[in-house]
Amino acid sequence: MAKKRITPHSVRVRIYSVHQYATRSVRVFFEITNKGKVPIRVAKRYTPLEGLLHDSLIVKRNGKVIEYDGLHAKRLAASPAEMLELKPDQSKSAEVDLSQGYSLQKGGNITVAFKRKNLKIEVPGASNTPIKVSTPVAKFRVAPLPKASPRLTIGERDRQMAQIALETNPTEVPLLPIIEGSNGRDQIIIDAHRACFENCDNANVNINANPERYATWFGERTGDRVDQVRGVYQDILSRMRGIRFTYKCNSDDQCGGDVIASTSKGSSTIYLCAQFWNLDPSGSESQVGCLVHEHSHASGGTIDIPKDGGGLGPQYYRDLASENPNQAVSCAYNFEYYAVS
Ligand SMILES: [Zn+2]
Repeated sequence: MAKKRITPHSVRVRIYSVHQYATRSVRVFFEITNKGKVPIRVAKRYTPLEGLLHDSLIVKRNGKVIEYDGLHAKRLAASPAEMLELKPDQSKSAEVDLSQGYSLQKGGNITVAFKRKNLKIEVPGASNTPIKVSTPVAKFRVAPLPKASPRLTIGERDRQMAQIALETNPTEVPLLPIIEGSNGRDQIIIDAHRACFENCDNANVNINANPERYATWFGERTGDRVDQVRGVYQDILSRMRGIRFTYKCNSDDQCGGDVIASTSKGSSTIYLCAQFWNLDPSGSESQVGCLVHEHSHASGGTIDIPKDGGGLGPQYYRDLASENPNQAVSCAYNFEYYAVS
Protein backbone atom coordinates (compact mmCIF):
# COMPACT_ATOMS: atom_id res chain seq x y z
CA MET A 1 0.00 0.00 0.00
CA ALA A 2 1.29 3.43 -0.88
CA LYS A 3 2.46 5.49 2.02
CA LYS A 4 0.34 8.54 2.69
CA ARG A 5 2.32 11.69 1.86
CA ILE A 6 2.84 13.81 4.92
CA THR A 7 2.43 17.55 4.42
CA PRO A 8 3.04 19.27 7.73
CA HIS A 9 2.38 22.69 6.20
CA SER A 10 -1.10 23.44 5.08
CA VAL A 11 -3.11 26.52 4.32
CA ARG A 12 -6.79 27.04 3.79
CA VAL A 13 -8.07 29.84 1.57
CA ARG A 14 -11.75 30.45 2.12
CA ILE A 15 -14.07 32.85 0.34
CA TYR A 16 -17.55 33.37 1.67
CA SER A 17 -20.29 35.86 1.02
CA VAL A 18 -22.29 37.85 3.48
CA HIS A 19 -25.98 38.41 2.99
CA GLN A 20 -26.31 40.88 0.13
CA TYR A 21 -29.58 40.03 -1.52
CA ALA A 22 -30.70 43.01 -3.65
CA THR A 23 -28.05 45.37 -2.41
CA ARG A 24 -25.70 47.20 -4.72
CA SER A 25 -22.47 45.84 -3.37
CA VAL A 26 -21.62 42.15 -3.32
CA ARG A 27 -19.35 41.83 -0.35
CA VAL A 28 -17.28 38.72 0.17
CA PHE A 29 -14.82 37.77 2.85
CA PHE A 30 -11.49 36.37 1.86
CA GLU A 31 -9.67 34.46 4.57
CA ILE A 32 -6.33 32.68 4.74
CA THR A 33 -5.71 30.31 7.63
CA ASN A 34 -2.54 28.52 8.61
CA LYS A 35 -3.70 24.95 9.22
CA GLY A 36 -0.17 23.66 9.77
CA LYS A 37 1.98 23.20 12.85
CA VAL A 38 4.55 25.98 12.40
CA PRO A 39 4.37 29.71 11.60
CA ILE A 40 4.33 30.63 7.91
CA ARG A 41 4.54 33.83 5.89
CA VAL A 42 2.04 34.71 3.20
CA ALA A 43 2.22 37.54 0.64
CA LYS A 44 -0.80 39.83 0.58
CA ARG A 45 0.08 40.83 -2.97
CA TYR A 46 -2.22 39.40 -5.63
CA THR A 47 -4.74 38.30 -3.02
CA PRO A 48 -7.88 40.17 -1.92
CA LEU A 49 -6.10 40.81 1.41
CA GLU A 50 -4.72 43.93 -0.31
CA GLY A 51 -8.15 44.89 -1.71
CA LEU A 52 -9.32 44.20 -5.24
CA LEU A 53 -6.30 45.52 -7.16
CA HIS A 54 -5.71 42.60 -9.48
CA ASP A 55 -7.59 39.82 -11.24
CA SER A 56 -6.96 37.40 -8.38
CA LEU A 57 -10.26 35.48 -8.52
CA ILE A 58 -12.19 33.34 -10.98
CA VAL A 59 -15.76 34.55 -10.79
CA LYS A 60 -18.48 32.76 -12.73
CA ARG A 61 -22.12 33.61 -13.25
CA ASN A 62 -24.34 30.64 -14.08
CA GLY A 63 -21.18 28.73 -15.00
CA LYS A 64 -19.69 31.38 -17.32
CA VAL A 65 -16.52 33.29 -16.45
CA ILE A 66 -17.02 37.01 -15.83
CA GLU A 67 -14.13 38.98 -17.26
CA TYR A 68 -12.24 41.11 -14.73
CA ASP A 69 -13.11 44.79 -15.07
CA GLY A 70 -11.57 46.33 -11.98
CA LEU A 71 -8.38 48.15 -11.19
CA HIS A 72 -5.01 47.15 -12.57
CA ALA A 73 -2.50 48.42 -10.04
CA LYS A 74 1.16 49.02 -10.76
CA ARG A 75 3.20 48.61 -7.64
CA LEU A 76 6.66 48.75 -6.15
CA ALA A 77 8.86 45.66 -6.27
CA ALA A 78 7.88 43.19 -3.56
CA SER A 79 9.47 43.82 -0.17
CA PRO A 80 9.72 41.47 2.84
CA ALA A 81 7.52 43.90 4.80
CA GLU A 82 4.47 42.92 2.81
CA MET A 83 4.64 39.30 3.97
CA LEU A 84 2.14 38.48 6.72
CA GLU A 85 3.10 36.10 9.46
CA LEU A 86 0.47 33.52 10.40
CA LYS A 87 0.92 31.37 13.49
CA PRO A 88 -0.68 27.90 13.54
CA ASP A 89 -4.48 28.25 13.37
CA GLN A 90 -4.23 31.99 12.85
CA SER A 91 -6.30 33.61 10.08
CA LYS A 92 -6.17 36.91 8.22
CA SER A 93 -9.18 38.10 6.36
CA ALA A 94 -10.41 41.04 4.35
CA GLU A 95 -13.75 42.08 2.98
CA VAL A 96 -13.98 43.20 -0.63
CA ASP A 97 -16.82 44.29 -2.89
CA LEU A 98 -16.72 41.73 -5.67
CA SER A 99 -18.92 43.87 -7.89
CA GLN A 100 -16.16 46.49 -8.20
CA GLY A 101 -14.07 44.05 -10.22
CA TYR A 102 -16.60 41.66 -11.77
CA SER A 103 -19.86 42.79 -13.37
CA LEU A 104 -22.74 41.38 -11.29
CA GLN A 105 -25.57 43.66 -12.36
CA LYS A 106 -27.51 40.71 -13.77
CA GLY A 107 -27.20 38.59 -10.65
CA GLY A 108 -27.48 34.80 -10.83
CA ASN A 109 -25.72 31.79 -9.35
CA ILE A 110 -22.22 32.99 -8.58
CA THR A 111 -19.11 30.96 -7.88
CA VAL A 112 -15.82 32.44 -6.73
CA ALA A 113 -12.48 30.65 -6.73
CA PHE A 114 -9.05 31.95 -5.83
CA LYS A 115 -6.19 31.83 -8.35
CA ARG A 116 -3.88 29.68 -6.31
CA LYS A 117 -0.84 30.11 -8.59
CA ASN A 118 -0.36 33.71 -7.47
CA LEU A 119 -0.20 32.87 -3.77
CA LYS A 120 3.30 33.16 -2.33
CA ILE A 121 3.87 31.26 0.92
CA GLU A 122 7.14 30.87 2.81
CA VAL A 123 7.94 28.55 5.66
CA PRO A 124 10.82 30.23 7.52
CA GLY A 125 13.85 27.93 7.64
CA ALA A 126 12.28 25.35 5.32
CA SER A 127 12.33 26.42 1.70
CA ASN A 128 11.09 23.98 -0.95
CA THR A 129 8.89 22.27 1.59
CA PRO A 130 5.56 21.08 0.19
CA ILE A 131 2.62 23.19 1.28
CA LYS A 132 -0.89 21.92 0.92
CA VAL A 133 -3.33 24.64 -0.07
CA SER A 134 -7.05 24.00 0.02
CA THR A 135 -9.16 26.53 -1.82
CA PRO A 136 -12.83 25.57 -1.78
CA VAL A 137 -15.02 27.37 -4.30
CA ALA A 138 -17.60 29.77 -2.82
CA LYS A 139 -21.15 29.53 -4.18
CA PHE A 140 -23.97 31.97 -3.57
CA ARG A 141 -26.84 33.71 -5.26
CA VAL A 142 -26.96 37.38 -6.16
CA ALA A 143 -30.25 39.06 -7.03
CA PRO A 144 -30.39 40.99 -10.32
CA LEU A 145 -30.66 44.76 -10.10
CA PRO A 146 -32.72 46.96 -12.42
CA LYS A 147 -30.86 49.37 -14.70
CA ALA A 148 -32.01 52.31 -12.60
CA SER A 149 -29.96 51.05 -9.73
CA PRO A 150 -26.58 50.29 -11.19
CA ARG A 151 -24.06 47.99 -9.56
CA LEU A 152 -21.03 49.12 -11.55
CA THR A 153 -17.53 47.79 -11.76
CA ILE A 154 -14.76 50.37 -11.49
CA GLY A 155 -14.19 49.91 -15.22
CA GLU A 156 -17.87 50.54 -16.04
CA ARG A 157 -17.98 53.58 -13.77
CA ASP A 158 -14.78 55.13 -15.16
CA ARG A 159 -15.78 54.47 -18.76
CA GLN A 160 -19.06 56.28 -18.11
CA MET A 161 -17.09 59.25 -16.81
CA ALA A 162 -14.75 59.13 -19.80
CA GLN A 163 -14.51 62.35 -21.71
CA ILE A 164 -15.22 60.60 -24.96
CA ALA A 165 -16.03 63.75 -26.86
CA LEU A 166 -13.32 63.26 -29.44
CA GLU A 167 -11.64 66.63 -29.53
CA THR A 168 -8.90 66.06 -32.06
CA ASN A 169 -6.97 69.29 -32.19
CA PRO A 170 -3.98 69.18 -34.54
CA THR A 171 -2.16 71.88 -32.60
CA GLU A 172 -2.45 69.99 -29.31
CA VAL A 173 -0.95 66.51 -29.53
CA PRO A 174 -1.51 64.77 -27.18
CA LEU A 175 -4.54 66.54 -25.71
CA LEU A 176 -3.72 68.22 -22.42
CA PRO A 177 -4.94 66.14 -19.49
CA ILE A 178 -7.23 67.20 -16.65
CA ILE A 179 -5.39 66.98 -13.33
CA GLU A 180 -6.98 66.71 -9.89
CA GLY A 181 -5.27 66.96 -6.51
CA SER A 182 -1.64 67.25 -7.59
CA ASN A 183 -0.78 69.93 -5.00
CA GLY A 184 0.85 72.25 -7.51
CA ARG A 185 2.64 69.50 -9.41
CA ASP A 186 0.54 69.66 -12.60
CA GLN A 187 3.55 70.37 -14.81
CA ILE A 188 5.28 67.13 -13.79
CA ILE A 189 2.24 65.18 -14.94
CA ILE A 190 1.88 67.17 -18.16
CA ASP A 191 5.56 66.55 -18.99
CA ALA A 192 5.20 62.84 -18.25
CA HIS A 193 1.99 62.68 -20.30
CA ARG A 194 3.72 64.24 -23.33
CA ALA A 195 6.81 62.04 -22.91
CA CYS A 196 4.53 58.99 -22.66
CA PHE A 197 3.04 59.89 -26.04
CA GLU A 198 6.49 60.39 -27.60
CA ASN A 199 7.83 57.15 -26.17
CA CYS A 200 4.84 55.20 -27.47
CA ASP A 201 5.25 56.83 -30.88
CA ASN A 202 8.94 55.78 -30.95
CA ALA A 203 8.06 52.35 -29.61
CA ASN A 204 5.64 51.87 -32.49
CA VAL A 205 8.27 52.89 -35.05
CA ASN A 206 10.88 50.65 -33.40
CA ILE A 207 8.80 47.52 -33.90
CA ASN A 208 10.33 47.35 -37.39
CA ALA A 209 13.30 49.69 -36.97
CA ASN A 210 14.83 47.89 -33.99
CA PRO A 211 14.10 44.16 -34.09
CA GLU A 212 16.56 43.36 -31.26
CA ARG A 213 14.70 45.61 -28.87
CA TYR A 214 11.42 44.01 -29.92
CA ALA A 215 12.88 40.56 -29.28
CA THR A 216 14.13 41.57 -25.82
CA TRP A 217 10.68 42.57 -24.58
CA PHE A 218 8.26 40.61 -26.72
CA GLY A 219 10.26 37.53 -27.71
CA GLU A 220 10.04 35.60 -30.91
CA ARG A 221 8.40 37.52 -33.74
CA THR A 222 5.25 36.25 -35.43
CA GLY A 223 2.83 38.24 -37.58
CA ASP A 224 0.01 37.97 -35.04
CA ARG A 225 2.14 39.03 -32.11
CA VAL A 226 3.66 41.98 -33.98
CA ASP A 227 0.11 43.08 -34.90
CA GLN A 228 -0.94 42.87 -31.27
CA VAL A 229 2.02 44.95 -30.05
CA ARG A 230 1.50 47.55 -32.78
CA GLY A 231 -2.23 47.64 -32.03
CA VAL A 232 -1.66 48.43 -28.35
CA TYR A 233 0.72 51.33 -29.06
CA GLN A 234 -1.55 52.68 -31.80
CA ASP A 235 -4.58 52.53 -29.51
CA ILE A 236 -2.63 54.42 -26.85
CA LEU A 237 -1.62 57.09 -29.37
CA SER A 238 -5.05 57.54 -30.91
CA ARG A 239 -6.80 57.82 -27.53
CA MET A 240 -4.21 60.32 -26.29
CA ARG A 241 -4.88 62.39 -29.42
CA GLY A 242 -8.65 62.24 -29.07
CA ILE A 243 -9.49 61.95 -25.37
CA ARG A 244 -8.77 64.26 -22.47
CA PHE A 245 -7.40 61.92 -19.85
CA THR A 246 -7.92 62.70 -16.17
CA TYR A 247 -5.16 62.08 -13.63
CA LYS A 248 -6.51 61.82 -10.08
CA CYS A 249 -3.84 62.08 -7.43
CA ASN A 250 -3.93 60.48 -3.99
CA SER A 251 -7.34 58.93 -4.32
CA ASP A 252 -7.33 56.68 -1.24
CA ASP A 253 -9.62 53.93 -2.57
CA GLN A 254 -7.40 53.25 -5.55
CA CYS A 255 -4.07 53.44 -3.72
CA GLY A 256 -2.85 50.73 -1.34
CA GLY A 257 0.52 51.03 0.40
CA ASP A 258 2.72 49.81 -2.43
CA VAL A 259 0.58 50.98 -5.34
CA ILE A 260 2.15 53.51 -7.70
CA ALA A 261 -0.80 53.99 -10.06
CA SER A 262 -3.91 52.23 -11.27
CA THR A 263 -6.61 52.35 -13.93
CA SER A 264 -9.08 50.03 -15.65
CA LYS A 265 -9.69 48.83 -19.18
CA GLY A 266 -11.32 51.42 -21.44
CA SER A 267 -11.05 54.13 -18.80
CA SER A 268 -9.80 57.67 -19.31
CA THR A 269 -9.04 58.12 -15.61
CA ILE A 270 -5.63 57.22 -14.21
CA TYR A 271 -5.10 57.23 -10.45
CA LEU A 272 -1.64 58.38 -9.36
CA CYS A 273 -0.65 57.36 -5.82
CA ALA A 274 1.90 58.79 -3.39
CA GLN A 275 4.60 56.38 -4.66
CA PHE A 276 4.41 57.97 -8.12
CA TRP A 277 6.20 61.09 -6.89
CA ASN A 278 9.21 59.05 -5.73
CA LEU A 279 9.97 57.80 -9.27
CA ASP A 280 12.56 59.37 -11.57
CA PRO A 281 10.99 61.43 -14.36
CA SER A 282 12.28 59.16 -17.16
CA GLY A 283 14.10 55.90 -17.80
CA SER A 284 13.38 52.42 -16.48
CA GLU A 285 11.05 52.46 -13.40
CA SER A 286 10.08 56.07 -14.04
CA GLN A 287 7.04 58.35 -14.10
CA VAL A 288 6.97 58.14 -17.90
CA GLY A 289 7.23 54.35 -17.79
CA CYS A 290 4.42 54.27 -15.26
CA LEU A 291 2.16 56.28 -17.59
CA VAL A 292 2.98 54.02 -20.56
CA HIS A 293 2.03 51.09 -18.32
CA GLU A 294 -1.30 52.65 -17.27
CA HIS A 295 -2.21 53.81 -20.78
CA SER A 296 -1.53 50.29 -22.06
CA HIS A 297 -4.16 48.99 -19.59
CA ALA A 298 -6.65 51.78 -20.28
CA SER A 299 -6.37 51.94 -24.08
CA GLY A 300 -4.66 48.70 -25.09
CA GLY A 301 -6.46 46.33 -22.71
CA THR A 302 -3.21 44.87 -21.37
CA ILE A 303 -3.09 42.93 -18.11
CA ASP A 304 -0.47 42.40 -15.41
CA ILE A 305 1.11 38.98 -15.40
CA PRO A 306 2.68 38.24 -12.03
CA LYS A 307 5.66 36.02 -12.32
CA ASP A 308 7.10 33.69 -9.68
CA GLY A 309 4.69 34.62 -6.96
CA GLY A 310 4.92 38.36 -7.10
CA GLY A 311 8.38 39.18 -8.36
CA LEU A 312 8.61 42.35 -10.39
CA GLY A 313 11.31 44.19 -12.29
CA PRO A 314 12.69 44.19 -15.81
CA GLN A 315 14.45 40.83 -15.61
CA TYR A 316 11.19 38.99 -14.91
CA TYR A 317 9.62 40.46 -18.00
CA ARG A 318 12.63 39.78 -20.24
CA ASP A 319 12.32 36.16 -19.12
CA LEU A 320 8.58 36.23 -19.82
CA ALA A 321 9.32 37.46 -23.35
CA SER A 322 11.69 34.60 -24.09
CA GLU A 323 9.71 31.89 -22.27
CA ASN A 324 6.17 32.89 -23.13
CA PRO A 325 5.93 35.53 -25.88
CA ASN A 326 2.14 35.08 -26.13
CA GLN A 327 1.83 36.36 -22.56
CA ALA A 328 4.45 39.09 -23.05
CA VAL A 329 2.42 40.72 -25.84
CA SER A 330 -0.51 41.20 -23.46
CA CYS A 331 1.45 42.25 -20.36
CA ALA A 332 1.58 45.94 -19.34
CA TYR A 333 5.10 45.63 -17.89
CA ASN A 334 6.51 44.49 -21.24
CA PHE A 335 4.92 47.47 -23.00
CA GLU A 336 6.33 49.77 -20.34
CA TYR A 337 9.91 48.49 -20.40
CA TYR A 338 10.03 48.23 -24.18
CA ALA A 339 8.98 51.88 -24.50
CA VAL A 340 11.33 53.39 -21.91
CA SER A 341 14.40 51.17 -21.78
ZN1 LIG B 1 -0.51 47.18 -14.29
